[in-house]
Amino acid sequence: MTGGLPSASGLQLAAACPGSFALAHIGHLTAAANSGTDKHKVFESDPARATKVMADVGLAPPHGATVRQEAAFSYHVDFSEVRFLGYGRSAYAGAEIGPREIPGTLDYLAQAPGEAVVGDFKFGRPEFVHPAKSAYQLGFAALVSARPRVRAGFVFAADESEAWADRAPEWDDFDLNDWRQRMRRLAEKVHEAHAAVARGEQPELNTGAHCTYCPAKNGCPAHVGLIKEALGLDMQDLNARISELLPDQAGAALDKVDAYLRPLQQLRGTILGYARGTPIPRANGKVLAQIKNEQERVVNADAAWKIIADRYGEEAANEACTLKSSWSAITEATRAVRKRGDIKSMREEMEAAGAIRTVELKPTLKEVRPDDPRIVLASDERPGLPEADDEAA
Ligand code: SF4
Repeated sequence: MTGGLPSASGLQLAAACPGSFALAHIGHLTAAANSGTDKHKVFESDPARATKVMADVGLAPPHGATVRQEAAFSYHVDFSEVRFLGYGRSAYAGAEIGPREIPGTLDYLAQAPGEAVVGDFKFGRPEFVHPAKSAYQLGFAALVSARPRVRAGFVFAADESEAWADRAPEWDDFDLNDWRQRMRRLAEKVHEAHAAVARGEQPELNTGAHCTYCPAKNGCPAHVGLIKEALGLDMQDLNARISELLPDQAGAALDKVDAYLRPLQQLRGTILGYARGTPIPRANGKVLAQIKNEQERVVNADAAWKIIADRYGEEAANEACTLKSSWSAITEATRAVRKRGDIKSMREEMEAAGAIRTVELKPTLKEVRPDDPRIVLASDERPGLPEADDEAA
């Protein structure tokens, strides 16, 4: 948090939960963040490489553009003023940022008269990145690029040879004005959250998947509240009442249970970590403590089979050493030596020899589209009434 408003990379979290930037943060760089920073440096030190990746993913700089990398700016939400703060990911750390300014660093900025291209390099998993078309981080980049037409995108470049981008549609002056208003509204919400904390009240908090990466989550009252509520639930009563729910209500209840589970699992992990250093007593009279692992004998089945067979015969050796396989193991192990069409003929040969057979698996729970033809209800699994012939038999 800097100067009251989040930096560009924190805007999305602030939009999901304005209170997250008014609560105390436990600031630390995770290993993933460190690795991302290291990878940024590769592009920073090689502008031609960065430009090539941008062009490869459809974000080529406009003709005659000036390219800047790791350029830090601030954006004033009331006056739409842009200040250039210097180069480098920490350029704004030493700068004076006003309470109505949003600071941020642009990985890649290409400016030509009337047009700009901005890119933010991502090295982590794309599912954790907000869609480009509505991402505040790109909205910020577009505003500080100070051009009436902007092409922007998240560039996923973990492996340069397979880089790809989630590109926002080209933003024109109308869209940029929309971003200006969204930034102002977001700033109001964050300031309201700060004011609530100053009054000793709880700010607006919204729990959800975004909590996973929230720097305030360790002291977040919403989470502490969830944990307390979950620990106080009468589970028997709740279980008995589930069948009274309509499907929509059951779905909402499952969402809530998932929201409880996430902080509880985090809490469990923290407690287990504590137990590694200090044994903790359990209700059953035992203690949960880290213990020295006993030794275990590891057997090399090939070598053991021969010795058992020599001593006691092959039958005993076969019984002692089981040979395991699966269809995926077979296809994987033969991948390099198989010829085209081999899979089908191998499967047919194995089926004919009884080496493989197809078995019906039990129905399983999975999230699918409502019209998925594989949906089978538990009531459909019950044995039907006997047919006339069955009765006769
Ligand atoms: S943990 Fe979730 S609810 Fe709590 S402040 Fe962070 S984002 Fe908001």
